[in-house]
Amino acid sequence: MNSGAGTYFDGVTSARRDVVVELTTGGLQVSDRDGHLWAQWPYEEIEGLTAPDNMLRLGRRGSATLERLEIRDPAFAAEIDARSAHVDRTGALQRSQRMRVIGWSIGATASLLLVAWFGVPAIATRLTPLLPVTFESVLGDAVNAQVRGMLDIRKAGAAFDCGIAAAEIPGRIALDKLVRRLEAVAALPLHLRTNVVRRSEANALALPGGQVYVFQGLIAKADNADEVAGVIAHEIGHVAHRDGTKAVLEGGGLSFLFGMLLGDFVGGGAVVLAAKTVLQSTYTREAESAADAYGTELMNKAGGDARALASMLEKTGGATEPGMKILMDHPDTKARVVAINKSAAAVSPSPFLEAGEWAALKKICAGS
Ligand SMILES: [Zn+2]
Repeated sequence: MNSGAGTYFDGVTSARRDVVVELTTGGLQVSDRDGHLWAQWPYEEIEGLTAPDNMLRLGRRGSATLERLEIRDPAFAAEIDARSAHVDRTGALQRSQRMRVIGWSIGATASLLLVAWFGVPAIATRLTPLLPVTFESVLGDAVNAQVRGMLDIRKAGAAFDCGIAAAEIPGRIALDKLVRRLEAVAALPLHLRTNVVRRSEANALALPGGQVYVFQGLIAKADNADEVAGVIAHEIGHVAHRDGTKAVLEGGGLSFLFGMLLGDFVGGGAVVLAAKTVLQSTYTREAESAADAYGTELMNKAGGDARALASMLEKTGGATEPGMKILMDHPDTKARVVAINKSAAAVSPSPFLEAGEWAALKKICAGS
């Protein structure tokens, strides 16, 4: 229904005009039967005025005159209502705003009680497994934007990513092949996004929602593709166990829990805090061991060399993620290496990449 009848008052004279109202893409047009155009109002400038129940009375926001338009056909009135941002004849907007306020109050009270009872870390642990994957993706995108900004200290923007320049494309293709082989056996409920970025540390990092950052320094330190695959498999373990999400919820604290209950967490300082947590905090020993076990199992399933993860740990002193300051002589790292080697499959592994592909991956950050 794109046109209907109305009554128009120009706000200057007292004349009452029977008009035809047409709903165009940008707004409504008011003309009389002789084709004279009386008014043209963009939808965002239309406002609802007080009127009897059987009528929709409209005005134009900020108009100097008291021009107004009256619509009596309920179906046509509903059509205008649906298109105009500031007309809320059905009261739907008002109701939803009221529900939102009530929701916030209940959410705030519930959060306070839960925090008082369990404390934030316990809630994060209990809550995380219940969160839908779609929530995790939205959360991941918000955190990702922040984390990228914090990692990209030289503000390189798009140039922060390796594998973009022409000479780096073969490296990108090799990386994709490697990740696909892991992803095929991991069967995650979400899609992994793996990027190599220009950071000199031999680290990798998994964010909520499946974003994995592999640092240039890790590629440089690795002696073969299976070592890179091993670390990525460990990171996939963090994704599968939702460790990043747990950390974000803990780091974001109470304000995050509030916002979460109402789907409002993307804006605001909580997400900055959350991003800092992901970058600075280290996972617990248990979380690291669990990610190792997952990574080892994944490498076995993919037919790769799981011991490559252990050899990479030996090279990095166990510091797979940024902020980890564990030294190789730390008993934890030694124990992790032993545990991985023990669980590695005995069958002879098939390398993740051929020699030429591995050479290309080594040059993924070489530039144009
Ligand atoms: Zn880890």
